[in-house]
Amino acid sequence: MKIGVLGIQGDIREHVMMLNNLGVNAVVVKTPKDLEDLDGLVIPGGESTTIWNLMEKKDLIEPLRRKIEKGLAVYGTCAGMIVLSKGIENYPNQKTLGVIDITVRRNAYGRQVDSFEVDLEIPVLGERSFRAVFIRAPMIVKVGKDVEVLARHGGTPVMVKQGKILVSSFHPELTEDTRIHEYFLKIVESGERI
Ligand code: GLN
Repeated sequence: MKIGVLGIQGDIREHVMMLNNLGVNAVVVKTPKDLEDLDGLVIPGGESTTIWNLMEKKDLIEPLRRKIEKGLAVYGTCAGMIVLSKGIENYPNQKTLGVIDITVRRNAYGRQVDSFEVDLEIPVLGERSFRAVFIRAPMIVKVGKDVEVLARHGGTPVMVKQGKILVSSFHPELTEDTRIHEYFLKIVESGERI
């Protein structure tokens, strides 16, 4: 199995390390060619406008959109979730890939100082709670009917899935808990290689 980590900006190394620890061949994706033989892709957190602008500069937007539409499994954390979403409530002019039917609100949990950690119940991971790290996190404010909510915090969805697209408002790569990455690998394995 070969999993790419979008290598533009953000927590790239942390995702690569976590995937390597799970015995997966993880590669950093920087060009459209790097997308060619992937089974799955992680889009890390960071700053969504920076990630988008650099993706545009590297001609990654359309090739990536096509791959996802053809069924490439993808996991977006935080800014990665913003990039995948259908739209941003408080930045309506900021462009996104629009591949998952959710609307997000950027920086909705407060400023940098208000970043926080919380134990979440995530039934698909089993009974043990998951320590979730939120850093200037986007909030999911609207979910479409085909979107499955996998976890909530204070009633608000914080981890959701639509087909082979998984997103979370928080950063599992900043903890030692590999269960969300393992869950993503199961999603990857559930489909054909493209
Ligand atoms: N605040 C960032 C944004 O709006 C996301 C933060 C993160 O990825 N940790 O793009």
